[in-house]
Amino acid sequence: MSDKTLDAVVIGAGVAGLYQLHQLREQGLDVRAFDTASGVGGTWYWNRYPGAKFDSEAYIYQYLFDEDLYKGWSWSSRFPGQSEIEEWLNYVADALDLRRDISFDTTITSAVFDEDTNRWTVTTDSGETIDTQYLVTCCGMLSAPMADLFPGQSDFSGEIFHTARWPRDGVELSGKRVGVIGNGATGIQVIQTIAEQVDQLTVFIRTPQYALPMKNPSYGPDDVEAYKARFDELRENLPNTFTGFEYDFDVAWADLTPAQRRERLEADYENGSLKLWLASFAEIFSDEEVSEEVSEFVREKMRARLQDPELCELLIPSDYGFGTHRVPLESGYLEVYHRDNVQAVPVRNNPIARIVPEGIVLEDGTLYELDVIVMATGFDAGTGALTRIDIRGRDGRSLREDWGRDIRTTMGLMVHGYPNLLTTGAPLAPSAALCNMTTCLQQQTEWISDAIGYLRANGKSVIEPTEEGQDAWVAHHDELADANLISKTNSWYVGSNVPGKPRRVLSYVGGVGAYRAATLEAAAAGYKGFSLS
Ligand code: NAP
Repeated sequence: MSDKTLDAVVIGAGVAGLYQLHQLREQGLDVRAFDTASGVGGTWYWNRYPGAKFDSEAYIYQYLFDEDLYKGWSWSSRFPGQSEIEEWLNYVADALDLRRDISFDTTITSAVFDEDTNRWTVTTDSGETIDTQYLVTCCGMLSAPMADLFPGQSDFSGEIFHTARWPRDGVELSGKRVGVIGNGATGIQVIQTIAEQVDQLTVFIRTPQYALPMKNPSYGPDDVEAYKARFDELRENLPNTFTGFEYDFDVAWADLTPAQRRERLEADYENGSLKLWLASFAEIFSDEEVSEEVSEFVREKMRARLQDPELCELLIPSDYGFGTHRVPLESGYLEVYHRDNVQAVPVRNNPIARIVPEGIVLEDGTLYELDVIVMATGFDAGTGALTRIDIRGRDGRSLREDWGRDIRTTMGLMVHGYPNLLTTGAPLAPSAALCNMTTCLQQQTEWISDAIGYLRANGKSVIEPTEEGQDAWVAHHDELADANLISKTNSWYVGSNVPGKPRRVLSYVGGVGAYRAATLEAAAAGYKGFSLS
């Protein structure tokens, strides 16, 4: 006998979970959301490290299902910081009165499907059990930190933090010797923010990044009014572009002269956003020559700023193409390395071997003495949030074991063998890799709500993708992914940052609009590729 019986459990109270909870509650379901955190926000609750901010324009990283909700919130700048984003998600939770149906400080530890009752038994870390018909995971694409990486970590005599577990009260860094491991989108934000505060900053660099300068103007009342006036246009446009941003690829490389290409690249670079990556030339993902030319354009910009040949060698990528993994926006990041209190340490050929009480030791025995270590070391993306829960489907099968062999889903929305488990931010759907997350998550949660609504309206209670349906989606996904240069670059995009993780491009790369059309077509055809009973 379970402690509680519900129609639906939503795991997570971030961007996806809040909206999913709202939708299912509006449909009349008895639904509750659970979150390990003490408040709403998901990614924007956890990632409170110094300098955390948007790389998507704030006004496109919003819910578009309700005009009043959209217009009731005003951003202070184009790319605001974490605290403002967390405040916005609290505003949403309050406006929709969601808190009364959320259990905070509660981690779901297991979920077991019962084939006799066609229901899930979900267990929390306090031992409470919940009997539910639907289990909807809104756990985030990038939420399972890669935090325990080095031998000796627990022996460190100073303080050590993963960026996604940064203390709410902050960390005193002034006057300290600080080491940062990792220079992805997160590390770059940390490094450029703390360099001025700390006594000494040591950055351990394994793979350099193509970084683009961010332009982040403050918004006054006129700016806010101007973007709010575009609400209808944004609502129409965003779900149908290639990446869920407002801009899109609109010109073919082959149709322009070299001078015109250069002009376009310069204009997109000057935009100070992700436009150069997500709306310049789509051929950067498929054509090695275009990839190299655009990469060289970015390298040239970086060389002009870095100047010092040694820094150029260490900080400018040369062995993978621009945009084949996440392009970070930065503000003065490269110039940080010109400061006297900042040292960049190459660790590609001389890796970090262990952490000792005094600091970080490299393979050749060099010790870097530190007071604080910041691990900007990323996430077990897409799968990690779910494989860290013991999820058991039909015949007792384990999602952890299944995905440990081969990461397969049906449109990132369901997994064969796991009836009534509906997923967002999961592999094989568009997600953080090449998508404005809020655009994708709204679409995925809406599809899930519609599917549940359809079942209820048609006297059905179980939905599961067929094996053939799933095989077809995986084959389609792989065909596109294998032709995309993303598949050739090592990063979380292909799972190569997690030892032993099966390699597959995690995000669907066929475009947000195309994906949306495919999911809607399947639904319109009576959930083609799924069995309903
Ligand atoms: P990440 O991109 O996976 O970067 C992790 C970094 O840690 C890399 O530089 C990696 O080096 C390094 N690293 C990991 N293990 C290491 C080791 N043993 N030794 C040395 N270096 C090691 O993670 P992230 O920066 O947290 O970003 C993850 C994603 O979150 C981003 O791609 C983005 O989608 C999202 N994000 C978004 C924002 C935003 O919107 N503003 C901000 C931050 C993050 P290698 O590259 O060599 O593996």
